[in-house]
Amino acid sequence: MTEPIKIESLLFSCIQCGRCCRRNGIVALAPGEMEKISAFLGLPPDEGLRRYATKREGRLVLRDGPRGECVLYEWTTARCKVYPVRPEQCRKYPFWPSILQSREKWEEEGKRCPGIGKGKLSVSDTTPVVSGEEGRNDLPRNDLKP
Ligand code: SF4
Repeated sequence: MTEPIKIESLLFSCIQCGRCCRRNGIVALAPGEMEKISAFLGLPPDEGLRRYATKREGRLVLRDGPRGECVLYEWTTARCKVYPVRPEQCRKYPFWPSILQSREKWEEEGKRCPGIGKGKLSVSDTTPVVSGEEGRNDLPRNDLKP
């Protein structure tokens, strides 16, 4: 039987490498998030929605960029264009239920995220995801791009 993971025992410190933004996957948008992103970019809400969001399986999600990266990823800086107002799903990574299932899952995710296992104890600026949200946001981007 797998041991339940203790969040307070985890090391994580984001090094802002952008790998999680370049992975193939889905970023679901919670209510109001697209409006915040649009305002941050100086766009009318409808324009932000048209440029950056789409519906997938009934959910509002961010579009993919031309190389499968998140549409809001900026290759020239290797940064998120809207980092201060990024979606909750991104804020909570890697503290997702699917990753917190076990120490093995956490270590496996560490092969994709170089911030895992580094730095200070636990939770960065994220709030750990609690049960009940599993499945909404748990489709990580595959690590297809360098
Ligand atoms: S892959 Fe990990 S270390 Fe790199 S930007 Fe994403 S969260 Fe930060």
